Amino acid sequence: MKIVLIGPPGAGKGVYAQYFRDKYCIPHISTGDIFREEISKNTELGKRIKSYVEQGLLVPDEITIEVVKRRLEQPDTLNGFILDGFPRTLNQAKALDEITSIDAAIHLVVSEEVAVKRLSGRVICPVCGRVYNLYYEPKPKFDEQCDYDGAKLMRRKDDEPEVVKQRYRVFYDTFAPILEYYKNTSRLIEVNADKSIKEITPLLERILIENKILKLKPCREVKLE
Ligand code: AMP
Repeated sequence: MKIVLIGPPGAGKGVYAQYFRDKYCIPHISTGDIFREEISKNTELGKRIKSYVEQGLLVPDEITIEVVKRRLEQPDTLNGFILDGFPRTLNQAKALDEITSIDAAIHLVVSEEVAVKRLSGRVICPVCGRVYNLYYEPKPKFDEQCDYDGAKLMRRKDDEPEVVKQRYRVFYDTFAPILEYYKNTSRLIEVNADKSIKEITPLLERILIENKILKLKPCREVKLE
């Protein structure tokens, strides 16, 4: 199963990628995670990309494509992988097709309203780093207080409603040509992801099986919270 996950902020990409990674033992490859790790280890690559990532700018295609190419040569990708955060340009999408054959691009469709509610409800404990949501589980037991240490929960600056709306619009401006590219090559699968993770996960799994994209046997049982 070689898939690309595409979805605006708040679509739950990370949650679904983790589920398939754990259940089918295939890697979840996030270019953002790879870049952050290289930066924290201060590697040669990390030094080259630091200023782009810190400013929220796209790392140049030639670097990003090379990183993904090398990652996809690793033996753990043999049975498949879930790409997250790549491709982010049309050029990257075309380059990816030269590196390997992608079965499908899964577009997790969420409305702007739901994305804003999910992200603006997300609050983090500044002391222990636990993440809660004011509208969805896990909710804090007491209003805006960490269950464990009682610290006042904080909202990330980029999760403020107005900023989320902006991020949502920028996402669709950026991804429109990529969605079009996968649509034109008959590999785009759109899944309405407005509902809860518990409802969407089995639906997504069924769609992947029915489309003969997911043919792997589970390597372990994964319970949905
Ligand atoms: P993310 O965690 O996916 O939001 O990525 C964090 C940052 O890494 C982005 O703001 C970019 O600076 C960089 N990045 C991640 N993926 C790509 C990509 N496919 N192309 C270029 N830059 C990327």
